[in-house]
Amino acid sequence: MKRYDRQEKFHAFGNTTQKKLQNLCALIIGVGALGSGIAEQLVRSGIGKLIIVDRDIVTLSNLHRQSGYLEVDANEMKPKVFALKERLQAMNSEVKIEAMNMEVLPQNILSILETHQPDVVLDGLDRFETRYLVNEATNKMRIPYIYSAVLGSQVSVFPIDSNGPCLQCIMPEPPETMESCALHGVLPPAVHIASSFAVAEVFNYLMTGMFSYDMKWIDIYKGEMKSTHIVNLKEEDCPVCRQHHYQRLKQSTIEGEYYCGNVIQVRYAPEDFDKLLSPNVNVIKQNQFVKLLEYRHYKMTFFQDGRLLIYGSENKNDALEVAQLIFVTT
Ligand SMILES: [Zn+2]
Repeated sequence: MKRYDRQEKFHAFGNTTQKKLQNLCALIIGVGALGSGIAEQLVRSGIGKLIIVDRDIVTLSNLHRQSGYLEVDANEMKPKVFALKERLQAMNSEVKIEAMNMEVLPQNILSILETHQPDVVLDGLDRFETRYLVNEATNKMRIPYIYSAVLGSQVSVFPIDSNGPCLQCIMPEPPETMESCALHGVLPPAVHIASSFAVAEVFNYLMTGMFSYDMKWIDIYKGEMKSTHIVNLKEEDCPVCRQHHYQRLKQSTIEGEYYCGNVIQVRYAPEDFDKLLSPNVNVIKQNQFVKLLEYRHYKMTFFQDGRLLIYGSENKNDALEVAQLIFVTT
């Protein structure tokens, strides 16, 4: 029996859609729970090429919902994209998979899209600022973008292309209750629903030649679901999809430091990753990609791209002060 027999047997899918899928190149930005779920379905279904981009390493707190990862990945502090590529390739060796261990920023997003020319971009993100950036970049490059988000028990997924509204039309401001972080938690079933809806949009597009232009919204805790047709929500004066003013693409960087629960991020230069650390800093664990550090009661994660995450601080200034003290002063 042929590998993809069961999906080809579905009347609207058939061998024709299978061939289209095998010629498709998708880019997934962010491979946490959502992104790794999307990646698994696309790879098992036999997509032609998949590019995965993410800046994080696997941690134990990811494992309850992020189906792409195992305990061994967390213990080895593996970058998510490398752990996921290995797993995906073991699921389907026919798919071309490219792993990019990097942060998506205003300075690099256009070159990522230009280099890889994906047919579709899928959202596995947990930060709205980056979603708005992806919205601008995909609009500029005229690449379809499937938005998906999960918070707590709530899921929302909708497709964006130049015929319909963009993210800016639908949500001019990041919804207050939807801003990322560890604050609201995530229920695993909600994530799996979201990744399935996102993949279903891709399949629908391949089967029918067009997106649904429906926003799917589900709350698995309340047991509520609705589907809203969004094609008429394109704003007359949208700065992004009507006026093509790409504010976020022009920013030099998204932010210097931010709060996420009690986590603060500080950016150093990538070469600072190899700088000599102060003897007062305890290196708990390290590999070529990341160092887990401890200084007084602060725990820190230092990434090879220069990002330093400081945990356990109630006070931003204290954390910033600690960030200044981790290196040997010359
Ligand atoms: Zn718009």
